Amino acid sequence: MKCPRCKSSMQEQKRTFHKQRKWICPKCGYVRFQQQKDERGKK
Ligand SMILES: [Zn+2]
Repeated sequence: MKCPRCKSSMQEQKRTFHKQRKWICPKCGYVRFQQQKDERGKK
């Protein structure tokens, strides 16, 4: 995944937040959450 701001590669955080992967850009600090494809217990 690349940062929409500076187009640099984002780093994935190991911690998941509400079953979403957290990506952080090391350059500008842009944070993005990516929903995981594996959906269980869908409401
Ligand atoms: Zn960035």
